[in-house]
Amino acid sequence: MIKTVSRWRQRISQLGKVRGRLESQLMRPKAMRIGSVVKQYMFCGKASCACHQDPQKKHGPYYYLSYKEKGQSRYKYLGKATSPEVERARNYQVFQRGMAQLGKIHREIIELLWKIGETQMRERDVDKTRPREEK
Ligand SMILES: [Zn+2]
Repeated sequence: MIKTVSRWRQRISQLGKVRGRLESQLMRPKAMRIGSVVKQYMFCGKASCACHQDPQKKHGPYYYLSYKEKGQSRYKYLGKATSPEVERARNYQVFQRGMAQLGKIHREIIELLWKIGETQMRERDVDKTRPREEK
């Protein structure tokens, strides 16, 4: 049991390091805009174009921003891969993933702390059943 507890403690300090790195990243977020980036390849209007023969030759990628407004899904054209709008939407996704990861780490730390705490509660029960040598 003591071995398990020290393993839990080790895991907590390991998670603490990961959390520290993550927090310093999240403290300095890059320029962002809400939404997720959707990549699309398209056919063009020219009937003679190769894109109509071979789907591999479709044009693009073109980027769209997908977001919700008043509960409805909306799309906004962002442009080519290098557009700053695409960058901002990507930064938002990175930020969002980081926040989710931070939440997961916190939950795991709390869970481990509870486990450690519970072993202490059990050990107190054991103490009570031990014969007392008082006098
Ligand atoms: Zn075409």
